[in-house]
Amino acid sequence: MKKIAILGSTGSIGTQALDICARHPESYRVTALTAKSSREKLFEQVRQFRPAMAGLLDGISPEEIPEDLRFCRWMSGKEALHAAAAEAEADQVLVSIVGIAGLQSVMDALDAGRQVLLANKEALVTGGHLVMEKAREKGKPILPVDSEHSAVFQCLQGAGPNRLTRILLTASGGPFRTWKKEEIRKATRAQALKHPNWDMGAKITIDSASMFNKGLEIMEARWLFDIPEDRIQVVVHPESIVHSAVVFEDGAVIAQLGVPDMRVPIGYAMAYPERMSTGVEAPDLFQLGKLTFEEPDEDKFPSLRLAREALRAGGAACTVLNGANEEAVARFLREEITFGEIYEHVDRAMNRLAGLPARNIEEIFEADRKAREVVSGK
Ligand code: NAD
Ligand code: MG
Repeated sequence: MKKIAILGSTGSIGTQALDICARHPESYRVTALTAKSSREKLFEQVRQFRPAMAGLLDGISPEEIPEDLRFCRWMSGKEALHAAAAEAEADQVLVSIVGIAGLQSVMDALDAGRQVLLANKEALVTGGHLVMEKAREKGKPILPVDSEHSAVFQCLQGAGPNRLTRILLTASGGPFRTWKKEEIRKATRAQALKHPNWDMGAKITIDSASMFNKGLEIMEARWLFDIPEDRIQVVVHPESIVHSAVVFEDGAVIAQLGVPDMRVPIGYAMAYPERMSTGVEAPDLFQLGKLTFEEPDEDKFPSLRLAREALRAGGAACTVLNGANEEAVARFLREEITFGEIYEHVDRAMNRLAGLPARNIEEIFEADRKAREVVSGK
């Protein structure tokens, strides 16, 4: 029986992880659940999974807790996140909250000696060097949940001492893959929220449309697999069946295939090194008929170039890119800026804040704050 704490349990990844837990009550016990503000949804989850603790970032007062849920220890604010990551009885901590907020939780969970199942790519984007160092120190390798990184990780099983020479990081291309550059600049909120293959939270869906998501994933792969960015190639693959591949020196390419359903990578991280049923069927290759691959268009999607520039610059450049993008996406979702302005804001923040250090978590949060200020104008 594995005990699992889920941070961000009401989100897209969180609910799919709980779906797997519900399929395997003999193997998984949920010990902690947290959400930001969706209390009704969290109440339902606590009723069903009966964790020992639950928390809401936005807070909850004792009288607001329904009578039948008072068996559970309820917490509020950042303390709730800390407790779920580090104090709850858990073998595994699934960090599926969104944004740089995940960095502290990942560090807390590692400090407490927990196995981290990582959906929150922003923790590696901003604090990759600190996270990987801590994971090594604690002897608790990070298990990737992001589908591309899970694919690479799966492709590396059985590779032994053979080093991969390249990663082929696949990308669906998002809803604007075939649009003209000028059309993309003027895309609306509703158009950007319509992802062709994946059903995900709002932030990552916008990032998929701008391809900042792939930029962040290059950074994530750089840290997880200790490989320089010039050996991570982005391959646009609109069907989202090949979730990524690795290239070895003998010319062999090993890829992982599956239908676009996050329960596969979530379940793989949960059961690793074993596999378990996830409720997902394998793709029907006859029905698919063919799979297609294209080179990404960096002129239409400047996010890929910006991400590589940030990685090469080092220091806090990736944190600045990420913070500026988080703020710009929030403003786009509030319909305060156009889609094209997301790129401009990130570019401007990177230029203005070039050379900031990221030697520790405080400097990372400081760089994040400054990047957001450039974008919000506050
Ligand atoms: P989501 O918006 O659907 O859910 C986010 C969850 O985190 C919710 O439970 C929310 O209450 C909580 N939350 C939001 N802001 C928070 C904060 N500041 N502090 C604490 N909790 C907070 O997001 P999602 O799509 O599930 O994505 C979660 C993470 O997983 C992201 O980092 C995303 O990039 C990554 N990811 C998601 C997918 C996917 O298919 N959804 C795929 C790959 C990677
Ligand atoms: Mg991904």
